[in-house]
Amino acid sequence: MSNITSPAQPQQNDFQENYLIVGLGRSGLSSAKYLAKYETTFGKTINISSYDKFKNINEQKKILKGLNVKNFYTGDIKAEYCTKGSYIVLSPGIDFNEIEEITQGNKVVNDIFLFLKYIEKKHNATRNLKIIGVTGTNGKTTTCSFLEHLYNKLGINVKLAGNIGLSPLDLIDELDNVEIIILEISSFQLMPFIEKALPVKLDVGIFLNLTPDHLDVHKDMAEYTQAKLTLLSSSKRTILNRNLDQSIISKFNDISFGESLKGDIKNQHNAQALKKYRQHFQYDRQYIFDDQGFKVSVEELKIPGQHNILNIMAGIAAFRALGGSTAELASILSEFKGIPHRMEWVTKIHDVEYFNDSKATNIASTLAALACFNQKKNIILIAGGDSKNQSLLLLSESMKKFVSHLLLIGKDAELFVESFKDLDSVEIVRCHAMEDAVNKAYLYAKKNDVILLSPACASFDMYKNYAERGNHFKALVGRLIP
Ligand code: ADP
Repeated sequence: MSNITSPAQPQQNDFQENYLIVGLGRSGLSSAKYLAKYETTFGKTINISSYDKFKNINEQKKILKGLNVKNFYTGDIKAEYCTKGSYIVLSPGIDFNEIEEITQGNKVVNDIFLFLKYIEKKHNATRNLKIIGVTGTNGKTTTCSFLEHLYNKLGINVKLAGNIGLSPLDLIDELDNVEIIILEISSFQLMPFIEKALPVKLDVGIFLNLTPDHLDVHKDMAEYTQAKLTLLSSSKRTILNRNLDQSIISKFNDISFGESLKGDIKNQHNAQALKKYRQHFQYDRQYIFDDQGFKVSVEELKIPGQHNILNIMAGIAAFRALGGSTAELASILSEFKGIPHRMEWVTKIHDVEYFNDSKATNIASTLAALACFNQKKNIILIAGGDSKNQSLLLLSESMKKFVSHLLLIGKDAELFVESFKDLDSVEIVRCHAMEDAVNKAYLYAKKNDVILLSPACASFDMYKNYAERGNHFKALVGRLIP
């Protein structure tokens, strides 16, 4: 049953704006704080209401204490919770389709929108602040963290926010001396702006890659693509993976990145569209380089895998697009050690190495993980969880090439068994839970093998999130150390 504390609905007029915060997670709270504190400074009366399907009114009041929130709603959403012409501030965790009931005649926004609006009003005229947006199916956090590392090392005041778990609205008090803001932006955060644009142009937009994911939430691949493209059409400079579909490549003409233009068949296919690009970043076996004299040795990179070369290259391209040039780049690159839960080296026991890639929540990321060892090592893979309607068969080829044992955990273990039961070279073992999987992996492993947690699935069926899953894995591996 819905529970409404105040029946009086605020009326929208020219001097008054109504906001309904939908979802009281981290970004919802940051939005409420921001609206209560800053939006009133633009000369309007702001009415804030709060809706959370699962948090009751008292919980909401506690979270929003002291913030002058007028109405609180819970239970199933209803059209009457919104006055026509309201702003609906949507949390990234909430499916756009769930709020269909109230979108008609209202404007769906989020904390990123509010932040950019603030920048437009307060900082745009004399904007020293540069904003880099990063989207893509995989590699966003790695690329953002690399850029943060790079600017930090150069003594440039940089902040990172967005999908990494910190709302950009929480940075507003500290903006005066900030020179660069890096925003990690997911497809969910771009959904409200599909076929429209973000309120201000970002200085650089990076589109890392696109593979099927979140199709349990997005209507189809076209919608997922369209959401991601909104970032590029809202950016002054655009950096895009040239392996993306020609239909995407041909829409832009600024900077591309990817393998050597000579080597790659997909690039040949895209060659015509790529001709109009201003600049290309490439790598061969030895160097990352562009066609304007930039060159750095791939040897400097200390994080594994070709996929990470691409992430770093996209980061360097953004740095260069903003005028960055430094002789120190090579040493700064070599100091970047990656981030936890992404191909994180855990330990070596009896000549067996353990890697935690718990953040691999989709097939493309597990494929990237398997490719890291390039058949030089045999892999014992721990996978499974919530497979989000992905087609698991896409893993077959790599499984055949790189994996001797597949240890399965989580709710979709049976789907994995079904998909790979005909792979003779792979021993498939169902495990009770992570502990069982780690113990079995230890027993199966031979000298020089790799034990890899790279689940290709979301973790929510067993854990709070991927980090809890990765930490559990590491703790269990820790117990194996003699
Ligand atoms: P995101 O923030 O987009 O989820 P992360 O940097 O956190 O990306 O990495 C998520 C997972 O994807 C990790 O398992 C990581 O090893 C893998 N990964 C990172 N970059 C790529 C890439 N370019 N292509 C495929 N997988 C990648």
